[in-house]
Amino acid sequence: MIVVLKAGTSREKVAELCGWLQSAFAVTANPIFGSETVVIGLVGDTSAIDADAVALDDSVEKVMKVAEPYKRANRKFHPDDTVFRVGGVEIGGNRIAVVAGPCSVESEEQMGGVAERVKKAGAQMMRGGAFKPRTSPYAFQGLRAEGLQCLRRARERTGLPIVSEITNPSHLEMFMEYVDVIQVGARNMQNFELLKELGRVRKPILLKRGFSNTVEELLMSAEYIMSGGNDRIVLCERGIRTFETSTRNTLDLSAVPMLKRLTHLPVFVDPSHASGIAWMVEPLAKAAVAVGADGLEIEVHNDPKHALSDGQQSLTPDAFDGLMERLRPVAGAVGRTL
Ligand code: PEP
Ligand code: MN
Repeated sequence: MIVVLKAGTSREKVAELCGWLQSAFAVTANPIFGSETVVIGLVGDTSAIDADAVALDDSVEKVMKVAEPYKRANRKFHPDDTVFRVGGVEIGGNRIAVVAGPCSVESEEQMGGVAERVKKAGAQMMRGGAFKPRTSPYAFQGLRAEGLQCLRRARERTGLPIVSEITNPSHLEMFMEYVDVIQVGARNMQNFELLKELGRVRKPILLKRGFSNTVEELLMSAEYIMSGGNDRIVLCERGIRTFETSTRNTLDLSAVPMLKRLTHLPVFVDPSHASGIAWMVEPLAKAAVAVGADGLEIEVHNDPKHALSDGQQSLTPDAFDGLMERLRPVAGAVGRTL
């Protein structure tokens, strides 16, 4: 962090400021005297410094951050990719992990049937929402605890690990018991109390990007979880809000190589929520793999026309078979397996 002082600041004032910065934030303050201005370079862990508070000092012209505010998620301090296992599935390695299943769990039969089909097509984990964060309170809210039971039975039937979204910290105990990866949805990416709770547990987290959040904000949310001691996190780009209305969201493909550069955490893409259109899932999934995604989260429903949520963007199991088939050569072209 660099503190630029106003022209004419006295040497006594510079010394006083350096002393305050060093004692208040446990960093080293190095003043550099130029012909007209003075700057103070701060080195050490500057993550706890409130730049706005420093800028309030009468002699400060401006404060510039030169280091990223996230440390644990930062690739600079952890150059190797984070790779971990969920059950038998490796996340973040050479093989692209595909999570597939319905938006909402609707019944035991539906969940089990879809899980069987996506497994056969090559998916390594299944998804299904039991607690659904819906825009309308009148829309289907999910089967809740019963939905988690259906997921568990589908896991017994197929062996696929379960990914399901948590919406409330009070459900954490239940999720610890039932699911293999806890998903934090876009709407809760900055639910900081939830993130803090998830930092305390030993369960992988799939953290989706909020639709109005920057890449840095996504990384800061991962940092919340990691600062609590949980470092098994998958980041997921799922489309952001832009002025474009022809798709449900705009898939920010550039976030994938950007995240891969900034962080060591695995990066997934959800082409289903990104587009909101079933026929667009395949081209976006291919593009995601081509730009370096480590995994995909895709909605698949046995009967999309009658789905209780997100039918318009859900693939049929047959369409998912075709997608996986055509995705394999794309993965091969970028040195990955599927
Ligand atoms: C979901 O995956 O079911 C979901 C609601 O996604 P998002 O949080 O990205 O909207
Ligand atoms: Mn959905």
